[in-house]
This record gives sequence, structure tokens and C-alpha cells, in this order.
Amino acid sequence: MRKHTMGLLAMAAASTLALSACGGAEVGGEPEGGASEGGDGITIGIKYDQPGLGLQDGAEYTGFDVDVARYVANELGYSEDQITFKETPSANRESMLQNGDVDMIFATYSITDERKEVIDFAGPYFVAGQDLLVAADNTDITGPEDLEGKNLCSVTGSTSAEKIKTDYAEGVQLLERPGYAECVTALAAGQVDAVTTDDIILAGLSAANGDGNLKVVGAPFSEERYGVGLPKGSDRCEDINAAITKMIDDGTWEELVAANTEGADYTPNADLNPPTPDACA
Ligand code: GLU
Repeated sequence: MRKHTMGLLAMAAASTLALSACGGAEVGGEPEGGASEGGDGITIGIKYDQPGLGLQDGAEYTGFDVDVARYVANELGYSEDQITFKETPSANRESMLQNGDVDMIFATYSITDERKEVIDFAGPYFVAGQDLLVAADNTDITGPEDLEGKNLCSVTGSTSAEKIKTDYAEGVQLLERPGYAECVTALAAGQVDAVTTDDIILAGLSAANGDGNLKVVGAPFSEERYGVGLPKGSDRCEDINAAITKMIDDGTWEELVAANTEGADYTPNADLNPPTPDACA
């Protein structure tokens, strides 16, 4: 992973600003800088606060999701300058696709049956697993079985928060935040015992935090298959799957994983990666 100079507090502040900026629904208006209707550009939803996956760093956008998005958009016929990136926080992804705010989403977006009721997915292009981030000197949390009586932080609208609520509700206090950077701030401040979400996200946050005072537990307890979010009925799924297959076959996938996890203590699960895209709906 590239060295990120942006501190966690600054990241949290930036994402708060970005959140408030996109808070109001644009009712009936022309989506300014939004999804292109018949135009010759494409608007892609990404995360802005997940180092190594989707990160806004000034005018630059970096991370694995962003690089995969560029590759796929290019295969669909869009050049770099025809791409507009827009922040799609976990809780807003389905609605932003439904409202036409974005044309497609690459944002650590797990394919689930529930989400497939309202949107379509292409992919998957990566498989992660839910894990836990704790203080480096923590010895009593070694996996999800140790969560009884603990305070956890996760993100509203994520499968991570959902899993805690369905499988570990008893005895776990869950703090929900709009983004994972805010959860890391809560962990660093001692407000929670652990942050939970996908291992690759936690590894990136831990590396960006820099001072080695956090660690990923390393006992994944779910399969998070990252898909490309599309509006329901989109005709782009087949072309996106073809692009993903090409990206894997030509070696780009491997290069992008390596480049974006450099410096983070993370290796993808080789039994599940690289995945084969599902058949389109
Ligand atoms: N992959 C999970 C999800 O789609 C967690 C990560 C996220 O919130 O983006 O909900």
C-alpha cells in the first residue's frame, strides 16, 4: 500500500464532510455530476475512506476497487477522463443506484440475496472475510467466539453490522458509524474493544494508521464476495463479467491486489481468489 499521509482524524473529517455534501437527495433535479443519462461519461460509486480499496486523497482516488473500476470502465469503452467518481457510503449504495446517482458501484460491496432484490450485481471480482481489528496488545479477542461482553464498532448498512446483530447479538454492544475510519477513531480512543468488517478493509486501515498499535485478529468468519453494483435491469452485467475475466486472465488482477496491499499485512484467501464471476441475472 502506498504511504498515506492523511491522518485518521483528517480522514474521518473528510468523510464526514463528504457525507453531509451528498446527504440531501436531489429530488427531480438534473443530477449534477451524477449518473450520465445518455451522456458520454460514466459515474462510478466508490468508498472515499478505505485506504487500499477506495480512498480520496486530494484530487486523487486510489485503491483496489478504484483500479478495478478504471479497468472495467476502460473495457466498456470509457477513457479515464470520462469517469466521475462519487462517494457511496455503505448505507447509501442501493438507494444511489436506484436513484440514478451512480451508474455502477465498486465499493467493497458484498453480493447478497437481500441486495439482489433491489439491484443487480456483476462479478464477484474479489472475496474477503469478516474479521476483527483490535489494539495490538489485546489478548482476549482471538475470534468471534470471544465477543461476549465486548463493545464493537461497525458501519450502518454493512453486512458486517448485520452479521453481528443476527449471530452475536447477545452480549455484544454494537456502535454503528457511517464509515470504518470513524470506527477506528473510536477504537483508538478506547470507546470500543474491536472494529469489525472485511479483513482487507481492516488491514488497510491498520496499515494507514501507521504506528502499529492496531492488529487484525486474522480469524475470518464469513465470505464477502465483492460484486459490481448495478441498477436493476442493467444491460452491463455480461460486459462487466467479461472485463473481470480478462483482468484476471491477463495478470492485472494479481498486480492490482499486490500494489494495493503493499505495506498492509494481508494475503487474499487463495482458496477463494481470484473468483469466477456468477452468471448474470
Ligand atoms: N462487504 C461488506 C458490505 O458490503 C462490508 C464492507 C462495506 O461496508 O463496504 O456490506
